[in-house]
Amino acid sequence: MPAGWPAACCAGNPPARARGLLCGKPAGKACGTCADCTSFTGGNHPDFLLVDPTTPDGEPDRDGGRLRVEQADAVLHFTVMKPFQSRFRVVLIRELQRATPQFANHLLKTFEEPPAAALLLATATDTSAILPTLVSRCQTLKLKPASREALCTALQTGWGTEPERADLLSRLAQGRMGWAVLQLEDARMWQRRDRNRALATDLAASSIPERLARADALAVRNSPAQLQEQVDFWLWWWRDVWLIQHDLANSCVNVDCGDELESLAARVRAADVTAFLQRLERAIQQMRANVNGRLVMTSLMIHMPMAA
Ligand SMILES: [Zn+2]
Repeated sequence: MPAGWPAACCAGNPPARARGLLCGKPAGKACGTCADCTSFTGGNHPDFLLVDPTTPDGEPDRDGGRLRVEQADAVLHFTVMKPFQSRFRVVLIRELQRATPQFANHLLKTFEEPPAAALLLATATDTSAILPTLVSRCQTLKLKPASREALCTALQTGWGTEPERADLLSRLAQGRMGWAVLQLEDARMWQRRDRNRALATDLAASSIPERLARADALAVRNSPAQLQEQVDFWLWWWRDVWLIQHDLANSCVNVDCGDELESLAARVRAADVTAFLQRLERAIQQMRANVNGRLVMTSLMIHMPMAA
């Protein structure tokens, strides 16, 4: 696991929950100073296993990767052993909605009757995409998003993030503490965001035939998860344009793009933006339901507001 995991404990933060379970002090919340807390934060606790989606080559890939059967094997081996240092062997499986059927089937029995000292935690953004027999074996906990203010403060005090960056990140995170922390070290996310920004500005000034060519290129080059990220970005981007058009700029998410957004807000019709936002919401539902990405992109390109 990456070094420097959460130093602060937060109710909606699964890694912090895992640390609380491993902590040697009985309070139920990580003390931050014992041997367990120190090795967890250092990324080398012998009783903790982090399972992330991967590419077929086994490389961690949280953009479009899957949880694979080899990883389920690793969980089985890890949980049958007795704890070395802590009271428990703790496994954190991230993005369980990305499990292959083989991964899920392989772990059904372990989820139902885990070995005595084993605790399995799993996070998911959408339980409808998980094998129902697996969900029924879990105790489900709905995590509330953190407030923007709480997130912004935690990023500054817990991770030493500069105020301006903490403000931007806390807006982009939409309450997801774990996501915000991951982005601190993920240069790829910022590069993708820069590309999305440039594309959004370009498209607003492009003709329909140009947009359709872009839709085709995007559908060929990107995985469904990447297309979904693109559409998510447009939703927040065009929501910001709408907010500026309605004198609500304070609530914008992309606060570092003020000039671009204001220029766009002045050149597109407010009614078109409102209609497009509704279309984006529908597109997100359709992509979750596995509707063909190219069809969704084509329809969005046709209806995207046109800058005068
Ligand atoms: Zn501790």
